[in-house]
Amino acid sequence: MMPTSSLESLLKNELVKIRACFYDFMKDFFSESFGKILEERKEWLPPVYVADEVIAIPKATGPFDKQLGKSIKKGYSIFIYYEAVKEYCRNFHLENAYEAVLSMVLAHEYFHSMHRMWDEKAFLQDASPRMGISMKRKHQLTESLADYFAYFWLKSHTDSDYAQVARHRKSLWLEYASNNWPYSAALVYVDSPVKFFDILELLKANPAMAYRKLSC
Ligand SMILES: [Zn+2]
Repeated sequence: MMPTSSLESLLKNELVKIRACFYDFMKDFFSESFGKILEERKEWLPPVYVADEVIAIPKATGPFDKQLGKSIKKGYSIFIYYEAVKEYCRNFHLENAYEAVLSMVLAHEYFHSMHRMWDEKAFLQDASPRMGISMKRKHQLTESLADYFAYFWLKSHTDSDYAQVARHRKSLWLEYASNNWPYSAALVYVDSPVKFFDILELLKANPAMAYRKLSC
């Protein structure tokens, strides 16, 4: 097994590249307030913690039932649960692509961190009628956005491990779409990438409308 310290340095190296990819990806998002964050955070990287905890996903509807990572409000820090990532690789025969799977999780969480910096409301655990949208629906929006970015990141490589992990992730979206697995909604952006920015913007301005756009 890879020692935690080499895992940490691997993730740190990946994160620098993920950040560059993110800046490139977001250049088509014309939001003044987001642009300001991008400008301020150019040199910034979220703290990343490698954790051996195993956290079950309550009421999981998807193909795995343990959290792979998380992004928290405090310091916009990222946690990577490497035991769960290992299990993901074992279950889906991706052992040879362990590093690419770690990188996918890291890109997903990095997206959450940047997103919540700009739109913390999208992550608040409230389903007030004023917002016109339940937490479950908000969750579907935030997860589909983060997962699509992670997919884009994987696809930006010519390396075959990254391509394999991307292909596999997309196959999970398709397989679990009928279960309402929140990540499956990322399929919308595969067909129509421009929707990504529309939904990102609407989620902040009018979450109910963002959800409607996602489902049509
Ligand atoms: Zn997520």
